[in-house]
Amino acid sequence: MAVLCFECGGKGESENMVFNPSTPIIVAECKLCGGTGKIRDEQLDWIIQGMLLKEFRLKQDVSMRKAARFFNVEDTYINEMERGIIEPWAGYDFSPPERI
Ligand SMILES: [Zn+2]
Repeated sequence: MAVLCFECGGKGESENMVFNPSTPIIVAECKLCGGTGKIRDEQLDWIIQGMLLKEFRLKQDVSMRKAARFFNVEDTYINEMERGIIEPWAGYDFSPPERI
């Protein structure tokens, strides 16, 4: 089962506003669903995990840039992981340590 993409509303494309009045609005493929307009079950899990990862990062007061530097990855990688565009990497962890 797949659900309608909530970022593009199922259209499969997103409008990227360009802050230059002479440039028209660029319609680009929706990044979240990859232009399909639908979110796969597997990706729904990524989105939920990504939200948690972001919450943990923000709770530790770590910026996205700082997190990227810490893990030696690109900012976009962190961004895409936290938005559920790509599968969250297990090593990306700012969660509080388990209490025994
Ligand atoms: Zn979409």
